[in-house]
Amino acid sequence: MDLRLYDTLSGEKRVFAPIDADNVRMYVCGPTVYDFAHIGNARPVIVFDLLFRMLRYIYGPDQVTYVRNITDVDDKINDRATRDFPGLPLNEAIRKVTEKTLVQFHADVDALGALRPTFEPRATDFVLPRADGKTDMVTLIKELIARGHAYEAGGEVLFDTQSMPDYGRLSGRKLDEQQAGARIAVDAHKKHPTDFVLWKQSSADEPGWESPWGRGRPGWHIECSAMSAAYLGDVFDIHGGGLDLIFPHHENEIAQSRCAHGTQAMANYWMHNGFLQVEGEKMSKSTGNFVTIRELLNDWPGEVVRLNMLKTHYRSPMDWTLKGMEESAKTLDDWYWVAADDRGGHPSTKVMEALSDDLNTPQTIAALHGLRNLAAAGDDKARGKFAASLRMLGFLNESAADWSARKQQSSGIDAARIDALIADRTAARARKDFKESDRIRDELAAMGVTIKDSKDGTTWEIAR
Ligand SMILES: [Zn+2]
Repeated sequence: MDLRLYDTLSGEKRVFAPIDADNVRMYVCGPTVYDFAHIGNARPVIVFDLLFRMLRYIYGPDQVTYVRNITDVDDKINDRATRDFPGLPLNEAIRKVTEKTLVQFHADVDALGALRPTFEPRATDFVLPRADGKTDMVTLIKELIARGHAYEAGGEVLFDTQSMPDYGRLSGRKLDEQQAGARIAVDAHKKHPTDFVLWKQSSADEPGWESPWGRGRPGWHIECSAMSAAYLGDVFDIHGGGLDLIFPHHENEIAQSRCAHGTQAMANYWMHNGFLQVEGEKMSKSTGNFVTIRELLNDWPGEVVRLNMLKTHYRSPMDWTLKGMEESAKTLDDWYWVAADDRGGHPSTKVMEALSDDLNTPQTIAALHGLRNLAAAGDDKARGKFAASLRMLGFLNESAADWSARKQQSSGIDAARIDALIADRTAARARKDFKESDRIRDELAAMGVTIKDSKDGTTWEIAR
């Protein structure tokens, strides 16, 4: 079964052929760590985790290298550091902001059932030449200058976009189109308006590193060119990220990497997940529909968030709704119950076929519903395939008992406590202590639990 992936650069769905099947290499742009991640950030995390799992399944778990960087140098981080830790020296304040945010990010993505990438390099560790000789940003910038692709002007080092004949291919933008309407006055020191910053000088109150171009800091794009080369080489298999990164970020990553290494490609497949809206509107802090992963996880298990995300194909725009979450929660309750902790089977062919078609998750979920129905009707083989497929997709990370217990806990109900109270009440009735049995019934009612006595014993349910 061939894995086929949609490549933004060629505009086609193509059969995936790795450069080296013993080391399949994928890079995905990671978070800028200054604030809680929002559900828009969760989309690439979940989508590329699914692809990572798929590649591990096909090529073997040790045959896939997944790198997701951490951007810990950024003007937004500086602003946050001076706001939150005004008394501290800047470097210490920045470290506090990034450490705290990173711990939170890891907790969030773990809860979403996402495997940790093989490497999670931090930008600040790759600014200056390294003892281990891995690619760094300063060396890459020097190489770009030496090859005639970058120049110093106005206190910056800039990439010379006109030095690259096919600059703009990923986003389909042409240089001369962009010349028109550009605000030349603002960029007077640039040779062309699309030229972008590789290095800029830092003032005394900004973080900086000593470089051949004075004390300064790198531009955003160069960090991904450095860290991908450091772990994956000059040309690798898959580069991923959100649609909003195509221009300028990925366009500029390609320009830097290809021109520094003298290669025809940076990555062979460029994959982009679509946008995400909330309740039909663009997510923004001002309209109040800005939802962090943390807030969602306070209300829902991470697997519900994961399923809800995968109901939409990764390239389609997605509308995140409360109704969708409620349906996803119901579906997972049912799937946990039907799968019944089965550990027998292998993922079903139908599921793997759907996933192999550019991660067609809506079709995958349809196949899962089919298996679920067979399993619920008593087909043990289908149950094994159903459970194995769900695990492959990153679900069933807990036992069915834990899942339902957690659900009861989250609704404020402690099933063990209720069972104990009912046993006490049965004992009280047996010794004809009706005062005590009524008291226990009232206590249960106060907890929102109604009980029903029959000749077979006492059953209970949560009053709605
Ligand atoms: Zn990047």
